[in-house]
Amino acid sequence: DPAPLHSPAPQPGDPDAALRPKSLAEFIGQEAARDNLRVFIESAKGRGEAMDHTLFFGPPGLGKTTLAQIIAGELGVGFRATSGPVIAKAGDLAALLTNLEPHDVLFIDEIHRLNPVVEEVLYPAMEDRALDLIIGEGPSARSVRIDLPPFTLVGATTRQGLLTTPLRDRFGIPVRLNFYTHDELDLVVTRGARLLGLAIEAEGAREIARRSRGTPRVAGRLLRRVRDFAHVAGEGTVTKAMADDALTRLEIDRLGLDAMDRKYLTMIATTYKGGPVGVETLAAGLAEPRDTVEEVVEPYLIQLGLLARTARGRVLNDAGWEHLGMTPPSGPTE
Ligand code: ADP
Repeated sequence: DPAPLHSPAPQPGDPDAALRPKSLAEFIGQEAARDNLRVFIESAKGRGEAMDHTLFFGPPGLGKTTLAQIIAGELGVGFRATSGPVIAKAGDLAALLTNLEPHDVLFIDEIHRLNPVVEEVLYPAMEDRALDLIIGEGPSARSVRIDLPPFTLVGATTRQGLLTTPLRDRFGIPVRLNFYTHDELDLVVTRGARLLGLAIEAEGAREIARRSRGTPRVAGRLLRRVRDFAHVAGEGTVTKAMADDALTRLEIDRLGLDAMDRKYLTMIATTYKGGPVGVETLAAGLAEPRDTVEEVVEPYLIQLGLLARTARGRVLNDAGWEHLGMTPPSGPTE
């Protein structure tokens, strides 16, 4: 099934982890973010303190988890990972926090999905390194404050705006991750091929890079699938033609769009005559959660200039019509 393969969402067992860079120097792209992080890491090390709380935001698969691990590695401290929806109760978070070693990194993926009660516990933990726990019930209940070791919270979310203001304000270091350029993805693919022991021609790597939706996780995944095709075909080296053939069979088009992307664009073009149409309506039509449409499908289509988000809804741009091989209806659309 090509859609989940191409989806930037992590897969169970995380097979992409094998290709994960382990140091800032090894990490490709995101130059501004890397330069800043290097400064913050060096300065925290120099002062012998925990690094400031850091928030990564950007579409899935761009390296947020990887960078969190790299920060811990470069700081030489422990790394604990969890995710917003997994922390069900305040007590779960308290257990995590009280078990940290001084200066450890605690990574919370999908931090915008913390439940509000748990989020309240996080505020004093981030700000004062303290836990306020309520002991007992009713009139005899009292609050006790427990000191925590200094630690660095690294949060990840798809969009900064999904966080509540009090949570967002408690991150000293906000870092936006952007889609990767073809040149950067070329390096990701070439490096991945080397790690997988796969021979690949420069043009073959380029073809995979161009069709990876600006996303290293997708690049790694496509590379592994192209490798499978190459093995089955009994070919030693991946060429451009072979990459093209494999990707076409996976229904990934010239721009790297998959079946879901094209279904989305086609729906706006045909059912809604190019828009504007609301995201709820589109999500219902695709039978996908609105979050997936907004955070996974749309950002790359907008980046490519195929789609625009307007106050009245989504609108197909000229480039979008062109990519579908269709012409916009003439005259005013409303
Ligand atoms: P996110 O947390 O943003 O969803 P991850 O950090 O899990 O993304 O990255 C997904 C995969 O993409 C990683 O396992 C790794 O294989 C690859 N990857 C991410 N960023 C890079 C990079 N800069 N260079 C090379 N590979 C990368």
